Amino acid sequence: MEPPLDRSTTWPFANGEPGPYHYARNAHPVGVAAEAELGRLDGGEALLFASGMAAATAAVLALLEPGRTVALAEGAYYGTGLLLEQLGRWGLRHVLFDQTGPPPPADLVWLEAPSNPFLTMPDLEAATTSGAIVLCDATAATPVHLRPLEHGCDLVLHSATKVMSGHHDVLAGALVCARPEHAERLREHRTRTGAVAAPDAAWLLLRGLRTLELRVQRQTTTALELAARLREHPRVETVRHPGFGGLLSFDVADAAAARAVETATQLIVNATSLGGVTSTIEARSRWEGARVPPGLLRLSVGLEPAAELWTDLERALGAT
Ligand code: PLP
Repeated sequence: MEPPLDRSTTWPFANGEPGPYHYARNAHPVGVAAEAELGRLDGGEALLFASGMAAATAAVLALLEPGRTVALAEGAYYGTGLLLEQLGRWGLRHVLFDQTGPPPPADLVWLEAPSNPFLTMPDLEAATTSGAIVLCDATAATPVHLRPLEHGCDLVLHSATKVMSGHHDVLAGALVCARPEHAERLREHRTRTGAVAAPDAAWLLLRGLRTLELRVQRQTTTALELAARLREHPRVETVRHPGFGGLLSFDVADAAAARAVETATQLIVNATSLGGVTSTIEARSRWEGARVPPGLLRLSVGLEPAAELWTDLERALGAT
């Protein structure tokens, strides 16, 4: 059963002594319950944050120093690159590399499994034998398909906003740590900066996690079918899907064709974000510019029947 939704920000001391819960920025019961479940799923010590980007910021600021270098997988979530650029003002350096091979010398190697929206998978062995701290953003894989700590990564990052919560109604992030000293530094950093998830978000995340495996299995089955059908379609040029999970991307001729498809779907919602029970589609060039092909469409497969999703996609492709 889920824990009661305790929204308190402060709890009474016992005989003048603060208990385990005394102020919500340090810890609150629903957050701790969600962290226990996240830690169990990934096999490490989990910390919950206000968003995926809050978790990403904490990882860099808590574990690195000015002058240190992050090797970031090229083609990873574009917001991660923007964050590292921002932190350049504070003395952080970053370089991009092809994560399907070994990373360049760095203090922190930042992988993404699979990368969003290019869907490449990292060479985990090459990264984890490089000597750097290795973080794997496994937002799209989820622990159902990949447990990076078992492959030697030091940290897993999740935008829990996505598949982990699964219903497009929670903003949250998580870091799961293999090393207790990393967890300790991150916990201290989170308390000082206040980048905590609220109890409501933690509660919804916990409820979403109860159906994670079922949702991911179904999304994988449907995405495999849609990817196969898209590969056969004459108006589709490239289809990217790593063979698991509900996230895929494909290219149509150009930006105008991508706009025509995304605005013609009826069942699939033309919106950003991914990993929810409702399928979403969008042309990524509106956010990422020339980093992606102009006709690239990202499709996040939800729980609708595969046949209905294909009918919708096929009709929309006819609009190009
Ligand atoms: N990592 C990946 C792979 C993402 O797709 C996203 C968001 O799209 C994030 C991190 C950032 O997460 P949030 O939006 O919860 O801050």
